[in-house]
Amino acid sequence: MKVKDGIIGLVVGDALGVPVEFSGRYDRMKDPVIGMREYGAHNQPKGTWSDDSSMTIATMASIVNKNKIDYEDMMDEFIKWCRNDKYTNSDSGRFDIGNTTIRSLTRYYKGTSALESGGTDDRDNGNGSLMRILPLAYIKDINYGTIESVSSLTHAHIISRIACVLYIEIAKSMLENDLEIHEHIEWACDKIKDHYYDSPALKSFEKIFSNDLGDVRGRTFVVGSLECVIHCLLTTNNYKDAVLKAVNFGDDADTTAAICGGLAGIYYGYDSIPIEWIDTINKIDKVESLCEKYELFCGGL
Ligand SMILES: [Mg+2]
Repeated sequence: MKVKDGIIGLVVGDALGVPVEFSGRYDRMKDPVIGMREYGAHNQPKGTWSDDSSMTIATMASIVNKNKIDYEDMMDEFIKWCRNDKYTNSDSGRFDIGNTTIRSLTRYYKGTSALESGGTDDRDNGNGSLMRILPLAYIKDINYGTIESVSSLTHAHIISRIACVLYIEIAKSMLENDLEIHEHIEWACDKIKDHYYDSPALKSFEKIFSNDLGDVRGRTFVVGSLECVIHCLLTTNNYKDAVLKAVNFGDDADTTAAICGGLAGIYYGYDSIPIEWIDTINKIDKVESLCEKYELFCGGL
């Protein structure tokens, strides 16, 4: 089942990174993460996922329940996560949320329409929509406008929207083409450069386009995250090494590893994800069963 490859890859990456979120690069060099840890940054048990997985799962649940992409319903599910701890796997419920996401959900909760709720300021270009966009890669004929709209629910700035489209194009290439990782990335970059050729925002992606990724970090800035993820994918040759490399950049470790894990899961497959990591994740069976339903919605891949 293909949906499971990417989604479980993302959830596992997230859970690996949660205990060391906010840690410095040098802390991780001295004490690298090599497997699932407990406690740490959010004082959570081993195998706890965070907002990245919760919002990804909420997106899939909304699409399955409505049998279509319904922006208002998607935001309703995000609100249920934010306020009622739905889609969490921790006894203590939700323990993190990004600034742009909470501002957008608050606007929606107070009556703004879903597609008008997302942040459009330069500072609204964190990785908060990139981390939850992966389910769209499995929808045949998904168009750029829809990907941009799903990003815009929280992150409506053009840089965030393009980052999501680029990520989905890489994922789709991995799903559809038999290529090396660098070829998938080049293929996706070419499509983005063609489509957004007249957008000034393209210059933000120049390092990715030119593969100038020698100085990356696990930043929250959406393009910085994507640079780091692509670097991790290009410099490793299996799922485990790719996500651990992402985690060990520190900073926004869970999100970098979630974004990386989604692509690495698709590229290397579910069986490449260490089963002992999957087995530590509470409620992973529920995610896997949602993946099955989602794959049916996508028409069986
Ligand atoms: Mg998180």
